[in-house]
Amino acid sequence: MADFRWDPVNGQWVIIAPNRSQRPNDFRKSRHHLNPQDCPFCYGNESQTPVEIAVYQAGEKEGRWLTRVFSNKYPAVHQNCGANREIGVGPYRKGDFLGHHEVIVESPDHKTSYSQLSDDEIDAAFQAYRDRIAMFAADSTLTHAMLFKNCRAEAGASVEHLHSQILCTSITTEKVRRRVERARQYHATHAIDVISAIVEFEISDQTRVIDQTDNFVAFCPYSSRFGYLTSIAPTFGSVGFNELTDSQACELGHFMRSLVIRLETCLPDTAYNMLLHLAPFDISADQYYQWHIELFPRLSNPAGYEWGTGCWINPVAPEEAAESLRGH
Ligand SMILES: [Zn+2]
Repeated sequence: MADFRWDPVNGQWVIIAPNRSQRPNDFRKSRHHLNPQDCPFCYGNESQTPVEIAVYQAGEKEGRWLTRVFSNKYPAVHQNCGANREIGVGPYRKGDFLGHHEVIVESPDHKTSYSQLSDDEIDAAFQAYRDRIAMFAADSTLTHAMLFKNCRAEAGASVEHLHSQILCTSITTEKVRRRVERARQYHATHAIDVISAIVEFEISDQTRVIDQTDNFVAFCPYSSRFGYLTSIAPTFGSVGFNELTDSQACELGHFMRSLVIRLETCLPDTAYNMLLHLAPFDISADQYYQWHIELFPRLSNPAGYEWGTGCWINPVAPEEAAESLRGH
Protein backbone atom coordinates (compact mmCIF):
# COMPACT_ATOMS: atom_id res chain seq x y z
CA MET A 1 0.00 0.00 0.00
CA ALA A 2 1.45 3.34 -1.03
CA ASP A 3 1.45 5.96 1.69
CA PHE A 4 1.57 9.74 1.20
CA ARG A 5 3.49 11.35 4.07
CA TRP A 6 4.02 15.09 4.50
CA ASP A 7 7.53 16.27 5.31
CA PRO A 8 6.92 19.48 7.34
CA VAL A 9 10.57 20.58 7.16
CA ASN A 10 10.99 20.45 3.39
CA GLY A 11 7.33 21.20 2.70
CA GLN A 12 6.72 18.25 0.40
CA TRP A 13 4.85 15.00 0.07
CA VAL A 14 6.78 11.74 0.08
CA ILE A 15 5.29 8.49 -1.25
CA ILE A 16 6.35 5.47 0.78
CA ALA A 17 5.92 2.53 -1.63
CA PRO A 18 7.76 -0.60 -0.44
CA ASN A 19 6.21 -2.71 -3.25
CA ARG A 20 8.35 -0.78 -5.76
CA SER A 21 11.41 -2.62 -4.44
CA GLN A 22 9.94 -5.88 -5.78
CA ARG A 23 10.17 -4.70 -9.40
CA PRO A 24 12.25 -6.83 -11.76
CA ASN A 25 15.37 -5.03 -12.87
CA ASP A 26 16.81 -5.77 -16.31
CA PHE A 27 19.86 -3.76 -15.52
CA ARG A 28 20.98 -6.07 -12.74
CA LYS A 29 21.31 -8.75 -15.42
CA SER A 30 24.12 -8.73 -17.94
CA ARG A 31 23.16 -5.89 -20.28
CA HIS A 32 24.39 -7.79 -23.30
CA HIS A 33 22.51 -10.99 -22.58
CA LEU A 34 18.96 -9.81 -22.04
CA ASN A 35 16.79 -12.21 -23.99
CA PRO A 36 13.71 -10.51 -25.52
CA GLN A 37 11.76 -13.68 -24.65
CA ASP A 38 12.26 -12.68 -21.02
CA CYS A 39 11.11 -9.10 -21.57
CA PRO A 40 7.59 -8.47 -20.23
CA PHE A 41 7.10 -5.52 -22.60
CA CYS A 42 7.91 -7.38 -25.87
CA TYR A 43 5.15 -8.47 -28.26
CA GLY A 44 3.96 -11.96 -27.34
CA ASN A 45 4.63 -11.54 -23.61
CA GLU A 46 1.51 -9.49 -22.83
CA SER A 47 0.41 -12.05 -20.22
CA GLN A 48 3.37 -10.97 -18.07
CA THR A 49 1.81 -7.53 -17.53
CA PRO A 50 -1.63 -6.39 -16.32
CA VAL A 51 -4.31 -6.44 -19.00
CA GLU A 52 -4.12 -3.53 -21.41
CA ILE A 53 -6.14 -0.34 -20.94
CA ALA A 54 -5.57 0.80 -24.53
CA VAL A 55 -3.70 -0.35 -27.62
CA TYR A 56 -2.82 1.60 -30.75
CA GLN A 57 -2.38 -0.07 -34.12
CA ALA A 58 -1.48 1.17 -37.59
CA GLY A 59 -4.73 2.26 -39.23
CA GLU A 60 -7.49 -0.35 -39.03
CA LYS A 61 -5.07 -3.21 -39.50
CA GLU A 62 -5.35 -6.25 -37.28
CA GLY A 63 -2.22 -7.64 -35.78
CA ARG A 64 0.63 -6.29 -33.74
CA TRP A 65 0.08 -3.26 -31.59
CA LEU A 66 2.32 -0.21 -31.89
CA THR A 67 1.71 1.29 -28.45
CA ARG A 68 0.26 -0.56 -25.47
CA VAL A 69 -1.00 1.00 -22.21
CA PHE A 70 -1.54 -0.90 -18.94
CA SER A 71 -1.52 -0.28 -15.20
CA ASN A 72 1.84 -0.46 -13.51
CA LYS A 73 2.25 -3.87 -11.87
CA TYR A 74 4.22 -2.19 -9.07
CA PRO A 75 2.36 1.12 -8.67
CA ALA A 76 3.69 4.02 -6.63
CA VAL A 77 0.08 5.05 -5.95
CA HIS A 78 -3.21 3.16 -5.68
CA GLN A 79 -6.55 3.68 -7.37
CA ASN A 80 -8.85 2.50 -4.62
CA CYS A 81 -7.58 3.95 -1.37
CA GLY A 82 -8.33 7.61 -1.84
CA ALA A 83 -10.69 9.12 0.67
CA ASN A 84 -8.82 12.33 -0.16
CA ARG A 85 -8.26 13.34 3.41
CA GLU A 86 -5.30 14.14 5.56
CA ILE A 87 -4.72 13.19 9.17
CA GLY A 88 -2.08 14.42 11.59
CA VAL A 89 0.66 12.06 12.73
CA GLY A 90 2.58 14.04 15.38
CA PRO A 91 4.36 16.84 13.49
CA TYR A 92 3.74 15.03 10.19
CA ARG A 93 0.61 14.42 8.11
CA LYS A 94 -0.62 11.34 6.33
CA GLY A 95 -2.59 11.68 3.10
CA ASP A 96 -5.12 9.15 1.87
CA PHE A 97 -4.99 10.08 -1.80
CA LEU A 98 -6.12 8.49 -5.01
CA GLY A 99 -3.75 7.79 -7.86
CA HIS A 100 -3.25 6.02 -11.15
CA HIS A 101 0.09 4.73 -12.36
CA GLU A 102 0.17 3.58 -15.98
CA VAL A 103 2.88 2.26 -18.29
CA ILE A 104 2.95 3.17 -21.99
CA VAL A 105 5.09 0.79 -24.08
CA GLU A 106 6.00 2.48 -27.35
CA SER A 107 7.04 -0.45 -29.55
CA PRO A 108 6.18 -4.17 -29.80
CA ASP A 109 9.86 -4.80 -30.56
CA HIS A 110 12.68 -4.61 -28.06
CA LYS A 111 13.66 -1.01 -28.74
CA THR A 112 15.43 1.02 -26.10
CA SER A 113 15.25 4.67 -27.18
CA TYR A 114 12.98 7.13 -28.98
CA SER A 115 15.65 7.33 -31.68
CA GLN A 116 14.82 3.73 -32.76
CA LEU A 117 11.06 4.16 -33.20
CA SER A 118 9.40 3.92 -36.63
CA ASP A 119 7.13 6.70 -37.92
CA ASP A 120 4.02 4.64 -37.04
CA GLU A 121 5.32 3.91 -33.54
CA ILE A 122 6.18 7.53 -32.71
CA ASP A 123 2.79 8.68 -34.08
CA ALA A 124 0.92 6.15 -31.95
CA ALA A 125 2.97 6.98 -28.83
CA PHE A 126 2.20 10.70 -28.88
CA GLN A 127 -1.47 10.13 -29.63
CA ALA A 128 -1.57 7.73 -26.69
CA TYR A 129 0.03 10.34 -24.39
CA ARG A 130 -2.57 12.90 -25.45
CA ASP A 131 -5.48 10.50 -25.06
CA ARG A 132 -4.44 9.24 -21.62
CA ILE A 133 -3.95 12.81 -20.36
CA ALA A 134 -7.39 13.73 -21.77
CA MET A 135 -8.96 10.80 -19.96
CA PHE A 136 -7.41 11.72 -16.63
CA ALA A 137 -8.21 15.44 -17.07
CA ALA A 138 -11.90 14.53 -17.46
CA ASP A 139 -11.92 12.70 -14.10
CA SER A 140 -12.96 15.19 -11.43
CA THR A 141 -11.33 13.13 -8.66
CA LEU A 142 -7.86 13.74 -10.09
CA THR A 143 -5.91 16.99 -10.08
CA HIS A 144 -2.54 16.47 -11.74
CA ALA A 145 -0.74 14.13 -14.13
CA MET A 146 2.96 13.74 -14.69
CA LEU A 147 4.04 11.91 -17.82
CA PHE A 148 7.69 10.95 -17.81
CA LYS A 149 10.21 8.71 -19.44
CA ASN A 150 13.25 7.18 -17.78
CA CYS A 151 15.46 5.85 -20.58
CA ARG A 152 18.33 3.56 -19.55
CA ALA A 153 19.37 2.56 -16.05
CA GLU A 154 21.15 5.77 -15.02
CA ALA A 155 17.89 7.65 -15.70
CA GLY A 156 15.91 5.40 -13.37
CA ALA A 157 14.58 2.71 -15.75
CA SER A 158 14.20 -0.79 -14.36
CA VAL A 159 12.98 -2.31 -17.64
CA GLU A 160 15.18 -1.76 -20.70
CA HIS A 161 12.33 -1.91 -23.25
CA LEU A 162 11.32 1.66 -24.14
CA HIS A 163 8.34 2.87 -22.13
CA SER A 164 6.89 5.96 -20.48
CA GLN A 165 4.83 6.28 -17.33
CA ILE A 166 1.94 8.47 -16.23
CA LEU A 167 1.46 9.08 -12.53
CA CYS A 168 -1.80 10.86 -11.86
CA THR A 169 -2.95 11.83 -8.37
CA SER A 170 -5.78 13.51 -6.50
CA ILE A 171 -3.32 16.01 -5.05
CA THR A 172 -1.01 18.47 -6.71
CA THR A 173 2.46 18.42 -5.19
CA GLU A 174 3.88 21.55 -3.60
CA LYS A 175 6.59 21.88 -6.22
CA VAL A 176 3.99 21.94 -9.01
CA ARG A 177 1.72 24.30 -7.05
CA ARG A 178 4.59 26.72 -6.44
CA ARG A 179 5.60 26.56 -10.12
CA VAL A 180 2.06 27.34 -11.24
CA GLU A 181 1.69 30.13 -8.66
CA ARG A 182 4.89 31.75 -9.97
CA ALA A 183 3.42 31.50 -13.48
CA ARG A 184 0.20 33.14 -12.28
CA GLN A 185 2.16 36.01 -10.77
CA TYR A 186 4.26 36.41 -13.93
CA HIS A 187 1.12 36.54 -16.04
CA ALA A 188 -0.46 39.12 -13.71
CA THR A 189 2.59 41.36 -14.09
CA HIS A 190 3.49 40.84 -17.74
CA ALA A 191 0.17 39.84 -19.37
CA ILE A 192 1.81 36.82 -21.01
CA ASP A 193 2.37 33.32 -19.70
CA VAL A 194 5.95 32.69 -18.64
CA ILE A 195 6.55 29.76 -21.02
CA SER A 196 5.35 31.78 -24.02
CA ALA A 197 7.52 34.71 -22.89
CA ILE A 198 10.55 32.40 -22.75
CA VAL A 199 9.72 30.93 -26.17
CA GLU A 200 9.43 34.43 -27.69
CA PHE A 201 12.72 35.51 -26.11
CA GLU A 202 14.64 32.39 -27.14
CA ILE A 203 13.35 32.55 -30.73
CA SER A 204 14.24 36.24 -31.04
CA ASP A 205 17.69 35.62 -29.52
CA GLN A 206 18.35 32.37 -31.48
CA THR A 207 21.59 31.66 -29.57
CA ARG A 208 20.15 28.69 -27.70
CA VAL A 209 17.57 27.47 -30.25
CA ILE A 210 18.28 23.92 -31.47
CA ASP A 211 15.53 23.43 -34.03
CA GLN A 212 11.99 24.48 -34.87
CA THR A 213 9.03 22.95 -36.72
CA ASP A 214 5.77 24.55 -37.86
CA ASN A 215 4.28 24.37 -34.36
CA PHE A 216 7.08 23.63 -31.88
CA VAL A 217 10.50 24.91 -30.88
CA ALA A 218 13.37 23.28 -28.98
CA PHE A 219 16.02 25.26 -27.11
CA CYS A 220 18.49 25.02 -24.24
CA PRO A 221 17.04 27.53 -21.74
CA TYR A 222 19.17 30.51 -20.64
CA SER A 223 18.99 29.23 -17.05
CA SER A 224 19.39 25.49 -17.78
CA ARG A 225 19.65 23.46 -14.59
CA PHE A 226 21.52 20.61 -16.30
CA GLY A 227 23.95 20.21 -19.17
CA TYR A 228 22.14 19.74 -22.52
CA LEU A 229 18.73 20.40 -20.94
CA THR A 230 16.33 20.88 -23.85
CA SER A 231 12.91 22.54 -23.52
CA ILE A 232 10.24 21.86 -26.12
CA ALA A 233 7.16 24.09 -26.29
CA PRO A 234 4.42 25.04 -28.75
CA THR A 235 4.75 28.25 -30.72
CA PHE A 236 1.08 28.58 -31.63
CA GLY A 237 -0.30 30.01 -28.42
CA SER A 238 -2.06 28.64 -25.42
CA VAL A 239 -3.55 25.19 -25.90
CA GLY A 240 -3.98 22.18 -23.65
CA PHE A 241 -1.80 19.15 -24.35
CA ASN A 242 -4.95 17.05 -24.54
CA GLU A 243 -6.29 19.38 -27.25
CA LEU A 244 -3.48 18.66 -29.72
CA THR A 245 -4.77 17.49 -33.10
CA ASP A 246 -3.55 14.18 -34.49
CA SER A 247 -1.22 15.97 -36.86
CA GLN A 248 0.20 18.21 -34.09
CA ALA A 249 0.74 15.18 -31.83
CA CYS A 250 2.57 13.36 -34.65
CA GLU A 251 4.61 16.48 -35.49
CA LEU A 252 5.64 16.72 -31.84
CA GLY A 253 6.56 13.02 -31.74
CA HIS A 254 8.75 13.24 -34.84
CA PHE A 255 10.37 16.39 -33.42
CA MET A 256 11.13 14.61 -30.11
CA ARG A 257 12.67 11.68 -31.99
CA SER A 258 14.91 14.06 -33.96
CA LEU A 259 16.00 15.78 -30.74
CA VAL A 260 16.90 12.45 -29.10
CA ILE A 261 18.89 11.53 -32.23
CA ARG A 262 20.78 14.83 -31.85
CA LEU A 263 21.39 14.12 -28.17
CA GLU A 264 22.59 10.57 -28.77
CA THR A 265 24.88 11.74 -31.57
CA CYS A 266 26.55 14.17 -29.14
CA LEU A 267 26.44 11.72 -26.22
CA PRO A 268 26.19 8.11 -27.51
CA ASP A 269 24.07 5.72 -25.42
CA THR A 270 23.34 8.44 -22.87
CA ALA A 271 20.63 7.84 -20.30
CA TYR A 272 17.96 10.52 -20.46
CA ASN A 273 14.70 11.64 -18.90
CA MET A 274 11.70 13.29 -20.50
CA LEU A 275 9.17 15.23 -18.40
CA LEU A 276 5.83 16.55 -19.66
CA HIS A 277 4.89 19.51 -17.48
CA LEU A 278 1.15 20.14 -17.30
CA ALA A 279 -1.03 22.55 -15.37
CA PRO A 280 -3.11 20.96 -12.60
CA PHE A 281 -6.58 19.91 -13.76
CA ASP A 282 -8.40 21.70 -10.94
CA ILE A 283 -7.39 25.20 -11.94
CA SER A 284 -7.86 26.84 -15.28
CA ALA A 285 -4.18 27.46 -15.74
CA ASP A 286 -3.65 27.03 -19.47
CA GLN A 287 -3.78 30.80 -19.85
CA TYR A 288 -0.77 31.32 -17.62
CA TYR A 289 1.02 27.98 -17.50
CA GLN A 290 1.57 26.57 -20.96
CA TRP A 291 2.47 22.87 -21.11
CA HIS A 292 6.04 22.10 -22.11
CA ILE A 293 8.48 19.21 -22.21
CA GLU A 294 11.96 18.88 -20.75
CA LEU A 295 14.48 16.40 -22.15
CA PHE A 296 17.84 15.98 -20.46
CA PRO A 297 20.71 13.50 -20.32
CA ARG A 298 21.91 12.16 -16.98
CA LEU A 299 25.47 13.34 -17.12
CA SER A 300 25.96 13.51 -13.36
CA ASN A 301 23.97 12.92 -10.23
CA PRO A 302 22.99 15.82 -8.01
CA ALA A 303 25.69 16.31 -5.39
CA GLY A 304 25.65 17.65 -1.85
CA TYR A 305 25.22 21.32 -2.70
CA GLU A 306 22.23 20.62 -4.99
CA TRP A 307 20.59 18.33 -2.41
CA GLY A 308 21.21 20.85 0.36
CA THR A 309 20.16 24.06 -1.35
CA GLY A 310 18.13 23.25 -4.46
CA CYS A 311 20.58 25.42 -6.43
CA TRP A 312 21.95 23.55 -9.43
CA ILE A 313 25.49 23.83 -10.68
CA ASN A 314 25.52 23.26 -14.45
CA PRO A 315 28.98 22.68 -15.97
CA VAL A 316 27.75 23.01 -19.61
CA ALA A 317 26.76 26.49 -20.79
CA PRO A 318 23.41 26.24 -22.60
CA GLU A 319 24.82 28.30 -25.49
CA GLU A 320 27.50 25.63 -26.05
CA ALA A 321 25.05 22.78 -25.57
CA ALA A 322 22.69 24.26 -28.19
CA GLU A 323 25.57 24.75 -30.63
CA SER A 324 26.59 21.10 -30.23
CA LEU A 325 23.02 19.83 -30.61
CA ARG A 326 22.41 22.04 -33.66
CA GLY A 327 25.48 20.55 -35.31
CA HIS A 328 23.92 17.08 -35.55
ZN1 LIG B 1 11.30 -6.01 -24.84
